[in-house]
Amino acid sequence: MASATSVPRLTAIVTGAARGIGKAIVLRLVEAGYSVCINDVASSAADIDNLVAEINAKHISPDSPARPRALGIVADVTSSAEVETMIKETVSQLGPLTLMVANAGVAQIKPLINVSEEDVDKVFNVNVKGLFNCYKLAAKQMIVQGDPQTAAGVNVYKIVGAASIVACKAWATLGIYSASKWAVRGLTQAMAMEMAPHKITVNAYAPGIIGTAMWEQIDEAMGELTGKPKGVTFKQTENLISLGRTGVPEDVAGLVGGYLASKDSDYVTGQTLVVDGGVIFT
Ligand code: NAD
Repeated sequence: MASATSVPRLTAIVTGAARGIGKAIVLRLVEAGYSVCINDVASSAADIDNLVAEINAKHISPDSPARPRALGIVADVTSSAEVETMIKETVSQLGPLTLMVANAGVAQIKPLINVSEEDVDKVFNVNVKGLFNCYKLAAKQMIVQGDPQTAAGVNVYKIVGAASIVACKAWATLGIYSASKWAVRGLTQAMAMEMAPHKITVNAYAPGIIGTAMWEQIDEAMGELTGKPKGVTFKQTENLISLGRTGVPEDVAGLVGGYLASKDSDYVTGQTLVVDGGVIFT
């Protein structure tokens, strides 16, 4: 049980964290004192292991040297059973869960007229059902833990999910992906209202154009549609960005692993916060 003067016991799970935005969020959370479960799918197991080893070699836990700072768990977020096991394992190894970052997502470039039922299922399975599994099962765990101050020395538990700027203004050829991210905003708003009595905040982040493997895939698929050589679509997006540059994962990690994970955001809930260098204005 944490007393008022003890160090808060900060424990997070970040899904889809072997690379890209998720990895940058993990590194920012560790800097902020969190112990973190790094999740991704089985094909990313080696990257998870490397990140866990890198973090544990550098950092010890602020409240207990015996507690690892990082733990790796392979799980597919589309399976509620796997998400439930991951949450249980994290709590048993790291302590009460104070933050869930439902970051895992997949993109798809296709004009809507060419989209198949399988395409819809694939994108919605990860981006909506997978995120919902993480929101719901994290919330259930947090409710069981009881008062967040007593359990972990924090004022509120936090749940955060990955939306996108296309959740606010859809992009042609990203139609199904855009629709899945609009769903994230809806879930985030409803969950925030339902979880407020349990001292759980729920917010989403909406990145713009961030240089990750996902954007390499988008760039390649756009190139196939438009005949533009590799890298050209990505570079041309700079014209859309007020600050004149595409983003890096650390730009998103500052919002999520910095602000949203800190007590500075304790009074913010139900929001989708845009981090895009000034592409859309909400
Ligand atoms: P990325 O493709 O580099 O990384 C996503 C990670 O999620 C991968 O490691 C992948 O293996 C993992 N993943 C996929 N399906 C999974 C599943 N079923 N279970 C567990 N893990 C799974 O993508 P990124 O650019 O780092 O994007 C992270 C999040 O941010 C995504 O939700 C994405 O939609 C969103 N986003 C990204 C951008 C961008 O410009 N990169 C913009 C807006 C929103």
